[in-house]
Amino acid sequence: MARYTGAVCKLCRREGKKLFLKGDRCYTNKCSVERRSYAPGQHGQSRKKNSEYGLQLRAKQTAKRYYGIQEGQFHKYFLMAERRQGMTGENLLRICESRLDNAVYLLGWASSRAEARQLVNHGHYRVNGKKVDIPSYLLKAGDVVSIKEKSRGSEKIKAVIEANASRPVPEWIEKNADAFEGKIVKLPDRDQIEVPVEDHLIVELYSK
Ligand code: SF4
Repeated sequence: MARYTGAVCKLCRREGKKLFLKGDRCYTNKCSVERRSYAPGQHGQSRKKNSEYGLQLRAKQTAKRYYGIQEGQFHKYFLMAERRQGMTGENLLRICESRLDNAVYLLGWASSRAEARQLVNHGHYRVNGKKVDIPSYLLKAGDVVSIKEKSRGSEKIKAVIEANASRPVPEWIEKNADAFEGKIVKLPDRDQIEVPVEDHLIVELYSK
């Protein structure tokens, strides 16, 4: 399925949640979810009672949109999560969190996950000293992500770092701003993952 290229704020309004897809604007009162807290479209303001399936579908869509992952890849992550020990829903979100584009965003080296994906594609980052330009690359505990030396002086990268310098970094990543590095101390526990979904609903949907 092709990547969605429409207005991203509509995706948040559809889910009724802030998915932080637009960078700086998401943290201001210009956020569309805060200004119009109803779904987009002609029937957006009519009250709808969600069926069990509807709730499960919305949970899956929310997670996919939050991380910017397409259906095929997301389903692959689900199968991977099922094979791991522990709770499948938690495993699924942990896999999504461990993507390189997500880590770059959380480190404050991109204003949104979409921008992180683009910057990774352009080869600005390294993992354990080696160039990695695959946004879906899965990191593991102990991996060190860094900004390529040559890219540190780029105006674009400097501006992005400056704009996001005050955004808090989750405790499972150890950021060393001076060295342009971030270390994955350990993969996150469920309570360290901020995606606004009930992961058991996604598991129920895929288990039908
Ligand atoms: Fe738009 Fe960001 Fe608000 Fe979502 S959270 S509606 S992307 S401004």
